[in-house]
Amino acid sequence: MRSEDIASDELRAEYNDLVEKVRKYRHAYYQEDAPLVDDAEFDRLFSRLEEIEALNPELVSNDSPTQEVGGEVSAAFAPVEHLSKMYSLEDVFSIEELTHWLSRTDTNVEALHRPKPEWLTELKIDGLAINLLYINGKLVRAATRGDGTTGEDVTHNVLTIKTIPTELRGKNIPAEMEIRGEVFIPSDDFRKLNESMVEQGKAPFANPRNAAAGSLRQKDPALTAERPLAMYVHGIGVREGLDATTQSETYELLKSWGLPTSPYWKVLDSTEAVLHYIAEFGDKRHSLTHEIDGIVVKVNDYATQRALGYTSRVPRWAVAYKYPPEEVNTKLLDIRVNVGRTGRVTPYGVMEPVKVAGSTVEMATLHNQDVIKAKGVKIGDIVVLRKAGDVIPEIVGPVMALRDKQQPPVHDFVMPTHCPSCGTLLAPEKDDDVDLRCPNSKSCPAQVTARVEHLGSRGAFDIEALGEEAAKALTHPDAPDVPPLTSEADIFDLTPQALADVKITRPKRVKGEVVGTELVPYFYTKATAKKPSDPTANTRKLFEELEKAKSQPLWRVLVALSIRHVGPTAARSLATAFRSLPAIENASVEELASVDGVGPTIAEALTAWFAEDWHREIIEKWARAGVRMEDEVDADRPLTLEGLTVVVTGSLEGFSRDEAKEAILTRGGKAAGSVSKNTDYVVVGENAGSKADKAEQLGLPILDEAGFRELLANGPSIKEPASE
Ligand code: NAD
Repeated sequence: MRSEDIASDELRAEYNDLVEKVRKYRHAYYQEDAPLVDDAEFDRLFSRLEEIEALNPELVSNDSPTQEVGGEVSAAFAPVEHLSKMYSLEDVFSIEELTHWLSRTDTNVEALHRPKPEWLTELKIDGLAINLLYINGKLVRAATRGDGTTGEDVTHNVLTIKTIPTELRGKNIPAEMEIRGEVFIPSDDFRKLNESMVEQGKAPFANPRNAAAGSLRQKDPALTAERPLAMYVHGIGVREGLDATTQSETYELLKSWGLPTSPYWKVLDSTEAVLHYIAEFGDKRHSLTHEIDGIVVKVNDYATQRALGYTSRVPRWAVAYKYPPEEVNTKLLDIRVNVGRTGRVTPYGVMEPVKVAGSTVEMATLHNQDVIKAKGVKIGDIVVLRKAGDVIPEIVGPVMALRDKQQPPVHDFVMPTHCPSCGTLLAPEKDDDVDLRCPNSKSCPAQVTARVEHLGSRGAFDIEALGEEAAKALTHPDAPDVPPLTSEADIFDLTPQALADVKITRPKRVKGEVVGTELVPYFYTKATAKKPSDPTANTRKLFEELEKAKSQPLWRVLVALSIRHVGPTAARSLATAFRSLPAIENASVEELASVDGVGPTIAEALTAWFAEDWHREIIEKWARAGVRMEDEVDADRPLTLEGLTVVVTGSLEGFSRDEAKEAILTRGGKAAGSVSKNTDYVVVGENAGSKADKAEQLGLPILDEAGFRELLANGPSIKEPASE
């Protein structure tokens, strides 16, 4: 056999395997509403299939998945023939591909002697397609997309969706019209729906798309009625007597007849404008009311749409740009536990590293054993991992259909009974607490490390050189056995001698390749305990920053002490009210609780904290080392903003965000993050967004930077701005 034949046999085998997989995955996705692989993996297989077919056209048959609108009709519903075919969309996954598509379409339009197209640009809603048939303005039938030609009759279910009108009102309503749109569940409603599923002991939905599809495709419309389904129109099919020449005109008409249209579509006339729209909604996608997975760009003019036509699967006049996926599947390799700053033992999942929403993720918190139970995840499962924008990654749940096939088989996670760091018996703090804690807070190494790291954090002493790695090197080095620091009490008494021999384990590289691990000095590179030399840049910085920390304001000291519930906000209120640490220590629970922003829980946590000898020892040692334990009353900084709430939005020339906040707080004001009717002043800088608009709508006093400086200096006695 010649080598070409071997290659083509291999290619044919790969091709057949791909066809089979795509069919299987489509069935699970469209029929079971329970996908077996993530969308990115599906899209990758589909693209490979298209690639092989493009190079080997002889392989393409009429029933290839690339020639069909993916979907089937379940026997559970009556089949409905659509009056005109429903199509899928061509996908592109990068800006280059999109730009290429736009310029290719421009050329095709020109060749057809049609005017240069305008682009109707809109959000790609992550739901499922619906076809509504209106005859003489009355809703007579609703069907899912199915295979594009035949869909499933879901009329009774659709009648339960309140925003879909059963009768259209207005002028010139066509005699017969198919309305195409997307049925979805708004994000807030989805969150509530999943919470109630968990409360009822049911497995939550993996995502709003599956929830919408599962809810619409119910046999019992009463169940559909309980689900918060919504719909937006995104096209039309048969349109007997419709008086519109563009898709955007149609949207205006449909809206006037009472159909739900999206508020976000735009008609754009250049590639640049389309790219700008994509970037804008890429930033905003998590503040919208519903999930989107991309942007759809369509030729606006109907005559041009008709001239371009369709393939058997997609229109040639529209394209879907997909944002990078936020949900991927990966293997849950293990569940381990972490002991935190307050002794809380938190399980977390360790996964096969996977790229999601632009970063590689291999760990995600699982909160506590109840959450693990509710999610139903087991070690060894393929799980759905979600990372939405800047939000921390979340393990959504297992892909149940794959569970029985896992090698080695999956097994349950068992919460440890003893602290993995110090061996102490774990216990809940109160009988009804879900969380287990290690009660050995004074000397449990994991807790000491976490507290040392915390005291260096931005909201505490703000010691940049004291990050996670440095905290570990100080309290838990890989050599020597006895760490330089066994309690945060001694942090300000560290000496170069104590740090000289500290070593940590790092990956060993030879010519850039990792070949194992090695022990390396952390603080001093050429050191003996007697004569530390060659400090690293971080070590120099650490000593400098520790020195600076000693004169930080009182609220930062309070945060650095790791008192339960005392974060920067409560600490600032306490510092303003009491001015010194001894005054806080001597205050009664009632006195503490009466401070604005403190309350009984924090007051009790404070009193309990000061009752421990070893806690007071920390304060004593820090004070002896020179840490300032009281705030001086600054006569130059009167409390001009006492009782006022100020919001700063946009960027100011003379203040960073933190500095503006600090300026407000140190003058007794409240620096709020959002505008409401309780806001007293809104300071508007460059590139301010929706907060400035809201302030205007509410008629609040708006200040520029100069006005802000005046307010800081003189308080509200300044004259109100001209518009007031
Ligand atoms: P699609 O979802 O990529 O695009 C077509 C659909 O987009 C339309 O039918 C319509 O319902 C919807 N849509 C949303 N907003 C729209 C708008 N503004 N204008 C027009 N249409 C809009 O295509 P598809 O064929 O439904 O599904 C293919 C995609 O589904 C794949 O790319 C993959 O992401 C996913 N899928 C995943 C699996 C899996 O196993 N994970 C299996 C099959 C399909």
